[in-house]
Amino acid sequence: MVRTGYVFDERYMWHDTGNLRSHWVEPTEHWENTATKRRLHNLLSVSGLLDSLIPIRPRKATKQEITTFHTEEYHDSILHKNGSGGEAGEYVPFGPEGYDVACLSAGGILAAINAVMNDQIDNAYCLVRPPGHHAVKDKGMGFCIFNNVAIGVHYARSLQDSKRGRVQRVAIVDYDVHHGNGTQDAFYNDPDCLFISLHQDNNYPQGTGSVEETGGEGAVGSNINIPLPPGSGSGAYRYAFDTVVIPALDRFKPDLILVSSGLDGSFQDPLASMMLCSEDYRYFATHLREAANRSCGGKIVFAHEGGYSKDYVPFCGLAVIEAISDIRTTVEDHYAAEAAQWGYQKLQPHQGAVIDYCAVTHGLKQAPNPSKIVNIKLAAHMHHLLQGLDSSEREELLKSLL
Ligand code: ZN
Repeated sequence: MVRTGYVFDERYMWHDTGNLRSHWVEPTEHWENTATKRRLHNLLSVSGLLDSLIPIRPRKATKQEITTFHTEEYHDSILHKNGSGGEAGEYVPFGPEGYDVACLSAGGILAAINAVMNDQIDNAYCLVRPPGHHAVKDKGMGFCIFNNVAIGVHYARSLQDSKRGRVQRVAIVDYDVHHGNGTQDAFYNDPDCLFISLHQDNNYPQGTGSVEETGGEGAVGSNINIPLPPGSGSGAYRYAFDTVVIPALDRFKPDLILVSSGLDGSFQDPLASMMLCSEDYRYFATHLREAANRSCGGKIVFAHEGGYSKDYVPFCGLAVIEAISDIRTTVEDHYAAEAAQWGYQKLQPHQGAVIDYCAVTHGLKQAPNPSKIVNIKLAAHMHHLLQGLDSSEREELLKSLL
């Protein structure tokens, strides 16, 4: 029987992001609000799955832990705004006591990692808030104050695992629909940390997350970006998992896997343009758990990131937690029957080309001959061609490829 830990705390719901305001339409609640997370928690309760999970009580991450990644100046600036709230950087509004909740969010991941490494549980899902993967060392970005997963990697490395020795090699898989720029930055020059991000190409943030960002000097190959075209669904994502994510994990052989579990690639999400259903998230979690079983005795910790569909996030999150706990509830995803049949759910050629280009770049797939590589590159860049270039630039690029 799998022992799955679960981190949740009422105080995660007290992080106040305020309202979205415009001069033109009525103010409405911020995208990053409590509804999706509370409704996921409530579905765990209603389904009965919550009764089978092992509660892990979060604690507040300390300044020392937070500054293993963030600068002291940035940490202190958030601390000083704890009484009033404010803005943590770019698109990161927070209310009074926002610092306290952000520390509790990061600390939830640390508590789960500690429980996994001490063999109190096998794996864990942390339904934390605020999310973390966009936060860079000296500022918050995209609703994220502190980078929970980056802090988690440093923490894991500080622990001694009695059975397996020190944790050194950590793999992070980030399937949030937005690029995990902050986490990429944190470990770009670290050959012992493999970062894999699947995301919608150039959604948020702009200008990061390309296939060519493969890792810094001494760490080339440890950063894998799979920038999927908008409209990617079940076929594209599963092909990316089968061709890149899982083979890369098996090759890297981590001591621990952390997952940035963003559920905003779903067909109902308002902040992206992908088409995933809950069964796809079940597929991701099942295959990640199996990869963890092969490489590190099943040690895997999921950290909740984005996901903005009030209706659908609960079903996606439930599928993930069912998969890692090996318990299937009787809950039926009544939305999926239709969306799974939508056109273009199957792998499309331009999506396959991006994924193949990534696989070839990282030595996970052999291109049969040089002309095939050209074709892959050309196809992978087709959407860029269509988007930005004028005719002379297009001609020049085609000349260089042919
Ligand atoms: Zn996201």
